[in-house]
Formats: sequence, C-alpha cells, structure tokens
Amino acid sequence: MKPIELKVKNSYTKQYHQRFPLISKEAVINPDDLQEEGAIVHLVEPNGNFIAKGYYGNQNKGLGWVLTYKQGEKIDFVFFKNKITAAIDRRKPFFNDENTNTFRVFNGEGDGIGGMTMDYFDGYYLIQWYSEGAYSFKDKVIRVLDEIGDYKAIYEKKRFDTKGKYIDDDDFVKGERGEFPIIVKENGMNYAVYLNDGAMVGIFLDQRNVRKAIRDKYAKGKHVLNTFSYTGAFSVAAALGGAEKTTSVDLAKRSKSKTIEQFSVNGIDFEAQDIIVMDVFDYFRYANRKKLKFDLVILDPPSFARSKKRTFSTAKDYPSLIKDTIDITEKDGIIVASTNNASFGMKKFKGFIDKGFRESNTKYKILEEFSLPDDFHVDRGYPQGNYLKVVIVKKMS
Ligand code: SAH
Repeated sequence: MKPIELKVKNSYTKQYHQRFPLISKEAVINPDDLQEEGAIVHLVEPNGNFIAKGYYGNQNKGLGWVLTYKQGEKIDFVFFKNKITAAIDRRKPFFNDENTNTFRVFNGEGDGIGGMTMDYFDGYYLIQWYSEGAYSFKDKVIRVLDEIGDYKAIYEKKRFDTKGKYIDDDDFVKGERGEFPIIVKENGMNYAVYLNDGAMVGIFLDQRNVRKAIRDKYAKGKHVLNTFSYTGAFSVAAALGGAEKTTSVDLAKRSKSKTIEQFSVNGIDFEAQDIIVMDVFDYFRYANRKKLKFDLVILDPPSFARSKKRTFSTAKDYPSLIKDTIDITEKDGIIVASTNNASFGMKKFKGFIDKGFRESNTKYKILEEFSLPDDFHVDRGYPQGNYLKVVIVKKMS
C-alpha cells in the first residue's frame, strides 16, 4: 500500500526540517486525505520532496507524530524495538536505584514515538495510548516488552478521544494480574498505586523531584498546607520530612481515604494530620476567617476545573490563586507553585506569580524551579513537551 502523502504548507516546511515532531492540522494542505488511524504517512514539501515519515493518530494536540526523518527507515517491529530499548537503556540509573522503583520508561515524542507513554511501577508496566492510531501499534509494543522480559504484568490506559479523555475499561493487558494497591517506592517513600481503577493511579510520577525537595529542604518543623491534594503525595513527603503538621485539601470525596492510605503505608499517624474534603477556594475563606497561617503552602491545581460554584483555569486564575495563598502564608513562608498546563511556558507562569505578589504588595524571592525530571525525556524539537512548571518562592517580610 502506498503511504498517504501529506503536503506540508510552505510556511511550515522549515519547522519540520528542524525536527518538529507533531503533525499539526494547520501545517498540512490535505488533512482530509487521512482516513485510517495508525496509517503511516509521508510528510512532503509542496513539490513532493520527502521530509519525514509519521503516523496518523488524532489527538487533542494534532493529527499524529513524526517517527523518522530517514526515507529508508521502515516503521516495523524493529523500529519499535529500537526506540523502546533505547528508552529503557536511558533509564538505567532509575532501574539501578535502590530507593526508587517507579518512573517513566517511555515518554512519547521525547523517546521518538509521540502519542504513547509507558510508566514502570515495581515490575508492572502501564502504557498510555493517546489515540487510536497509537493504539494500533499495541501488538508490536507488547512484543518488545515480551522480548525484553522480566515484567509482572502490563496494564494500559486508553486516552483516545480528542480531549485526551480516559475510556473506562478493564486495563489489564497481560501477565499476572496485580493485587492492588501495590506499594511502590520513590526516594525511600512509599506510595499505594492502583493500575486498574480508573484514569489516575494514585501518584503523579513527574513530581518526584519536587516531593524530594519538600521532604529534604522545606518541611522540617513546618505547618504545611497542601491544596488540590489528590492522594496527598506531597503531604506524605512533608510529613516524612518532619513537618509539624500537614493539612490536605481536595474537593473529591475519595481523596480522604486515599490520603489516609498514603500516610498509613508510610507508617505516619494520619490522625495527627488534617485531611479535608472541601473546595480549595472555600478553604481559603475559612482559613482567613480563622486567621490560620501556614509556613509552607503547596499549590498544584488541575489545568482546568469546573465545580458547581466556579470554573478555574490556570491560564487565567493563577495570579488570584497566588493572592489568596499569600494571605494565609506566614512571613518568610514558602509557596510551592505548580502547574502542568502545557499551553504556556515558565516565563509566563512566573509572570502569573509576579502578578499575584505585586497585586498583594508583597515582596518575594524565587528559591528554586523545577520542570520535568530526567525520566520524562523531552524531545529537543518539541520543548513544549516539557509541560511541568514548579516555582518555589519565599514570601519576604
Ligand atoms: N497535587 C496532587 C495532584 C493534583 S490533581 C498530587 O501531587 O498528587 C488535581 C486535584 O485537584 C484532583 O484531586 C481534584 O479533585 C482536585 N480539585 C479540582 N478542583 C478543586 C477545587 N476547586 N478544590 C479542591 N480540589 C480540587
């Protein structure tokens, strides 16, 4: 079968020659020629000259991903094997780390195949497919893992539709079914993980370095407020770092039992901690009324959230979130401001933080910044893939 030729608009050919890996709708002249998800496509210049090979996989970011710039390279089993083996080799330091047995082993376009990621949880693999097209490579990918061997089981999450939403399903693929939760280790901390219980597994691996910093540098003797706390992973790190007390706030009812569980698997008395199911914005009002102040406040909101009362978007509302936080932060206190919104970069994010402080007439100092950790390998041609931005700031007296 002859591959479909996607003609790249003149104004976009340069970007692909410079190895931009995403096939975006705006860039191609004939997107309607795409029919079957997973089909191999050739990107060509308007005059027909070859640029790159990729595949059709419609997701929120674009129409698919470039796989190779070599005209002679086949997209076959060997191709997948080479990419996955190289990715695993690159994670050797993680595989050899006694204190950590959970990390990302394959980071989509960062490891040469956009639309697919693979995480490792102490012998279990979790593959996430971001389009039907990516999913069409499943058999090859599984075969590679079979050849490499040495896994307990493989699970998957299908995040197909164009919003990247998770399709609820039995996520078990192969191997011996796990008994969940499994307890994984990260820098010596324990986390309970569920690989077959909906879209999220209990921990976000991309925050590893931030959790470590909180535990090792910022928590000792402190009153810590963890907002948008989910399973309380940051609270666990703070408690293990010697926090005087942690307060975790999340709207989701399940967050309470999940947080109790994360404390418990670390031998922390959860009854000495506060775990509150509440809208964070209501909590800010409550804390103000009660004149509560914290030494360390962690902000890690979802990019976009709609609750009964309001919608929150990081791109619009982060400055006001910072302002609310400043009011309940002690002098010389620390704010950990985080976002995973890929639609803006670090510079803009720092602008939001600056705006919040300026409007509060409060001085601050940036102590540290984090982006994705090394296992979330980012493609040089696609720095947008480094979506994580975490800034640790000190509120100056
Ligand atoms: N910081 C967490 C991850 C946060 S995920 C971690 O490190 O593991 C985002 C969380 O925000 C979800 O658990 C969701 O329930 C919660 N959430 C969304 N809107 C909220 C709101 N208005 N108030 C409180 N929690 C909210």
